Amino acid sequence: MKDRIARILEEGIEEFAAASDRKTLDAVRAKYLGQKGFVKDVLSSIGSVPPAERKEIGRLANELRAKLEAAFEKQKKALASAPGTGTVFDPTEPPAGGEIRELGRTHPLSAVVSDLLRIFSCLGFEAVDGPEVEDERHNFDDLNIPKDHPARDSWDSFYLGRNMLLRSQTSTVQIRVMEDLARMPPLRVVAPGRVYRPDKIDATHASTFHQIEGLWVDRDVSMADLKGVIAAFCRELFGPSVRTRFRPSFFPFTEPSAEADASCPRCSGRRGLACSLCKGAGWIEVGGCGMVNPKVFEAVCGERLRRGETLPPGGMPPFHPERVTGFAFGFGIERLCMIRFGIDDIRLFLENDLRFLRQF
Ligand SMILES: [Zn+2]
Repeated sequence: MKDRIARILEEGIEEFAAASDRKTLDAVRAKYLGQKGFVKDVLSSIGSVPPAERKEIGRLANELRAKLEAAFEKQKKALASAPGTGTVFDPTEPPAGGEIRELGRTHPLSAVVSDLLRIFSCLGFEAVDGPEVEDERHNFDDLNIPKDHPARDSWDSFYLGRNMLLRSQTSTVQIRVMEDLARMPPLRVVAPGRVYRPDKIDATHASTFHQIEGLWVDRDVSMADLKGVIAAFCRELFGPSVRTRFRPSFFPFTEPSAEADASCPRCSGRRGLACSLCKGAGWIEVGGCGMVNPKVFEAVCGERLRRGETLPPGGMPPFHPERVTGFAFGFGIERLCMIRFGIDDIRLFLENDLRFLRQF
């Protein structure tokens, strides 16, 4: 009897372990643990064992049942966790109710802003913010934009009443950062944000769009630093082989001023190709830049004194144009995004058309 129990145990454990699918496993279970199985047979034959051995055989029979049940459970678990068999949890399977939720994604403008902030943070710039409702002093006066400048006409800015308007450029943040008494040179800041202009809306103009403003103020900052930063920025955003060039321009708040161009990242600046991005020019405009106009520094120094800045006797204000120089730049974020992704209509950014947004 003992030999029989030992043999059933050995063969049973082997058979459970060899069951390669659930059907086989259930058949093995019936064979050993079922109503007409071996274990049942052993238990029912205990009565015919001599009384002296009965107790031990009973113990062995119970042990046999427990060990075989354990072997069954072990193999059941092994089959369930194996791929492609049993009741495996499949996260890619559609839900039972049939409702599939849409996953959100990053808007292309947000993706470009994140990239810009990452690049400028690597170049040592701090990200700052400013209000979208501005007064004329921050939007025009302190940026050396005279009272009779066309940008100040009511049809070129969204006025909100006396002296207040929706900012038409992020350059306002330059003034706000420098007039803050808690800040001293050297300064290296970038300010991405929304700006407003009552432009006629078409494929390249919108009344609401985004800019990123940059400002670097320190002793002996030069045009060479400006060109180096913009060249590094364009290589990082558009690719390592992109070249930059600077064309003389005019802005009231920088002197000298320049327009920065990047070689077309699509046709690599090889002229004569029918490139839709640069219209065959080989270059695309990235934005305006220049050395901070001394008049801007003077306005900042005046405001800091009005705010109670105390200077040592005979001391020079920290932002005095004889003490510091600086450069500034402003890029259109929609424009950078359109160049990067080959988008040909600025209106797509605001229409909230999911067919457009799903492409990014
Ligand atoms: Zn091109």
